[in-house]
Amino acid sequence: MRTRSLVLKATAGLFLATAITFALPGPVGAEPAMAAAHPAQIGVFRYRLGDFEVTALSDGTVPLDLHELLKGVSPADIDKALAGSFRRNPAETSINAFLVDTGSRRVLIDTGAGGRLLDSLKAAGYEPSQIDDILLTHAHGDHAGGLVHDGALVFPKATVHIAKADVDFFLDPAHQNGVPGYDKSYFVSATASLGPVKAAGKLDTFTGADQILPGIVSVPAPGHTPGHSFYRVESKGQSMLFIGDLVHAEAVQLPNPKVTIAFDVDQSKAQAKRVADFKQFATSGQAVAAAHLPFPGIGHIRRQGAGYDFVPVDFVNRDGQ
Ligand SMILES: [Zn+2]
Repeated sequence: MRTRSLVLKATAGLFLATAITFALPGPVGAEPAMAAAHPAQIGVFRYRLGDFEVTALSDGTVPLDLHELLKGVSPADIDKALAGSFRRNPAETSINAFLVDTGSRRVLIDTGAGGRLLDSLKAAGYEPSQIDDILLTHAHGDHAGGLVHDGALVFPKATVHIAKADVDFFLDPAHQNGVPGYDKSYFVSATASLGPVKAAGKLDTFTGADQILPGIVSVPAPGHTPGHSFYRVESKGQSMLFIGDLVHAEAVQLPNPKVTIAFDVDQSKAQAKRVADFKQFATSGQAVAAAHLPFPGIGHIRRQGAGYDFVPVDFVNRDGQ
């Protein structure tokens, strides 16, 4: 148990460390000389969904040591799966958030870890003050961490929607030193992000499947966290399901959905959910958008041999779209 908690501590710190790295001042600073000549990658991708516009926004990427993080698979098999996708450990992993512009409301799904999201949002033509609602898939630091900067609300107007089960679990005063098998850093970061929102009277919790806004419903997906939720967004008969952290390491977990990750609060529930949902998505052709699939993280999951693979949506870049 001691070893496990040390590993969890290291991994929980990873996303927090990312936020700290991203927060370094200045565009050049400690950047390597080669990168200094160019602006940062522009992390914006637009997708038309009926009358709505979905914009994928990159919060940046982080290298994840999958040997340390993944469970139920050997390091050799991880390397084999990564090599099959022409990748290697540590796996460069996207942190994606999504803006849904319904025409009347601007709705942000997740807020990243406090990395490059605001640069991406600005590049997409929006200011933080224009965001009306924020839908959190769950309370982890790489999803809720962008809510607050230096204790102040980054999106001052926004109502923040999240499942009550995650608020109950992560903000419980009795959990702030951690629970068996789950390190305190998860709880500390959730409280730092959601506490100021709650204090400002901007936190709106829901239970189960709920109509959050016109065209947007929550879909309970517990396992990764107790209140982990998908959001189904529909317009003019088109739908997209925002699946949060159903998958982190696509090169390994798509071929073998039984592989779990240290971030999962309930390993067996998270595994069963992924196994069932991949099958359902592949059968139904449901379009999905995920926080950690390679940016922009929008596409379809299809059968591939005994497992699955991911097909990104078309890149469309012409007038009239
Ligand atoms: Zn998570």
